[in-house]
Amino acid sequence: MTLRPTVAIHTLGCKLNQAESEKLARELSLAGYGFAQGNAADIHILNTCSVTHIADRKSRHMVRILRSKNPQAFIIVTGCYAESAGQDLVDCGADWVVDNRYKMSLPDEITSKIKGLLNYKHKGDALSSTERVRSFIKIQDGCQNFCSYCIVPYVRPNVFSLDANEVIMEIREKVAAGYAEVVLTGTEIGAYIDKGLKLSGLVQRILEETDIKRLHLSSLQPQSVSPQLLGLWNDNRLSRHFHLALQSGSDSVLKRMRRKYNTAQYKKTVDRILDIMPDASITTDIIVGFPGESDAEFLESYNFCENTGFAAMHVFVYSARPGTLAAQMPGKVGEKLKKERSLQMLELAAHIADNFAGRFIGQTRDVLWENETGRGSGICTGLTDNYIRTYAKSGVNIIGKIMKARLIDWAEDVKGLPLRASTRGNHGELWGEVLR
Ligand code: SF4
Repeated sequence: MTLRPTVAIHTLGCKLNQAESEKLARELSLAGYGFAQGNAADIHILNTCSVTHIADRKSRHMVRILRSKNPQAFIIVTGCYAESAGQDLVDCGADWVVDNRYKMSLPDEITSKIKGLLNYKHKGDALSSTERVRSFIKIQDGCQNFCSYCIVPYVRPNVFSLDANEVIMEIREKVAAGYAEVVLTGTEIGAYIDKGLKLSGLVQRILEETDIKRLHLSSLQPQSVSPQLLGLWNDNRLSRHFHLALQSGSDSVLKRMRRKYNTAQYKKTVDRILDIMPDASITTDIIVGFPGESDAEFLESYNFCENTGFAAMHVFVYSARPGTLAAQMPGKVGEKLKKERSLQMLELAAHIADNFAGRFIGQTRDVLWENETGRGSGICTGLTDNYIRTYAKSGVNIIGKIMKARLIDWAEDVKGLPLRASTRGNHGELWGEVLR
């Protein structure tokens, strides 16, 4: 019997990339490909990101590493960086660069293109059931908003939404396969529309027509949080976490960024959510050092973040994306100043995360347990319904289950436990006790 080659998929960037990689893995698995860990695969697929110059660098670095560790392997690179800098990736060692729009045809293309190119040495494993905790489902793709700093409209220009019936079917399959949580992803999921059905209608149908235990919406634009959408949160299967990318808390910077809201409108959305769900976590993205950002504008942004009631902030240092409007703007902020502002924002982010999580010490919340922090450690980690990272010791297997936990202390204050894998520090993370 001829064995199919084994595949390893590596994903950089956003939840949309994760959703697409997950779908690719499923289709390759159905087509008979096995999966190999680490460097043992015959084919490596790298799904790249190009949101910042650091993402570009990571994408190139990853191709070089894959090539040096796998001289015989067939390396396929796709994703946003592949769309904008294909030749760079070939120079780094990629065998084949595939544009975003052909990404999802890869399973068919691989079968016809690489037949005979490889000696199929390995027999891989089917997808492991331990991965079946959270699944990312793509419901929408593309963006035409042209925020002035963003490369996405150039690399994902085709805007479309997936058929609602197909989304429901995919979620039912995930439920049948044992997944506890589904995350709806897209470039701009608030723009979802299928034959007149908007995002709120889709979410309502998913809640009514599937048995998914936890449903999570990825990043939303503040203007997409309609009263109809919020009205659905009386179903406690919807995760009480909203990621609303702010980007700047200064109105003049928002205007130069060409965002479609100002700080007053943004704050109104946050207040509307917190009025209904005071325990909801609202997280955001912030860019520091956007062209022309003055000291006063940075301070406005900082103060807005401090006073808006966030649960967590992801801080990004502005980097020019060639071809975008912002890359041509005057008033570049120097690297030293960008670094100082980033450190100040990061300090605020740590403080904000601790403030939010600290409110819940002593409470009992539902936690979806994801994995063990280290093999045999018996320490499991998961996220509460309002997305607080939680750790607990468990003598029995709780992975993939939603179980109540009493949140008893800061994760960092518990002595004698192995450190977690997280590289972003442990602010806002708690230690809990699983209740049975
Ligand atoms: S909404 Fe703006 S930031 Fe988001 S993908 Fe579209 S252009 Fe980029």
